[in-house]
Amino acid sequence: MALAGLILIAPAHGQTSTNRFAFDDFFLSPVRVHLLSAKDSPAIHTTLREEDITRILQKVNNVWSQAGLHFYLESLVREEAQGQESYTPAAEGTYHLALLGLRPMESRSTNLFHIYYLREMPNNGIYFPAALFVKDTASLRKVEGGIDEPLPRVTSHELGHAFSLSHRQDNTNLMASGTTGTRLNEAEISQARQAARKFNWVQTAPDLMEKADALFREGKLTNAAILYSRVAMIPLGFEQVKLAKKRMAQAALPHSNSLAK
Ligand SMILES: [Zn+2]
Repeated sequence: MALAGLILIAPAHGQTSTNRFAFDDFFLSPVRVHLLSAKDSPAIHTTLREEDITRILQKVNNVWSQAGLHFYLESLVREEAQGQESYTPAAEGTYHLALLGLRPMESRSTNLFHIYYLREMPNNGIYFPAALFVKDTASLRKVEGGIDEPLPRVTSHELGHAFSLSHRQDNTNLMASGTTGTRLNEAEISQARQAARKFNWVQTAPDLMEKADALFREGKLTNAAILYSRVAMIPLGFEQVKLAKKRMAQAALPHSNSLAK
């Protein structure tokens, strides 16, 4: 519906402004963040905490707002890695199976994106269809206009792969390898949005808002607030986002979506 308008206003030369997508154009996607603990392996045990994840996710959403994509925290799980003895972050390319084997069975699910944080890996981050992994100790080459810390950039980059994007080696770009760049060009934005439509767990902002409003009208305030919280973190000043925040406050639910233990 809004697509025709978008094509008309799309700026030339790959320039993007963060506010080009309307609220109705936004796609919302759940992510489950896993903080891997490891009693016997300092190479696995993440030192990240909940407040780090909040900050990282905010910055990821600043990056992805240029494509009208938004990620909300379905849950934050701190869990003991399994198969720790098999994991040795040695030569690149030989550790993939052991890495995937670190994921505890009980927190796996097929209807959202999984992001695992651990201490050490040969790569800064890596994407598999089942899960993406980011290491605490990621480091990047600074480029002009780049982001101010590595973890949100690496996380955003791996999410780019999840949304079908390939590498593009131009310093300031999100899909360049190993830099702080965060830009997406028109083709990448349109490709990522196309991919978003194919995941059955990705919703549009108006759909989610409609469900939240229905719950709110029925007086199911706590359930409404959970849905509103998924919209409320969109980092742009949309009226609907303000309303979601207001209604969350009305439901008197603490601003937290850490539903899992
Ligand atoms: Zn990559």
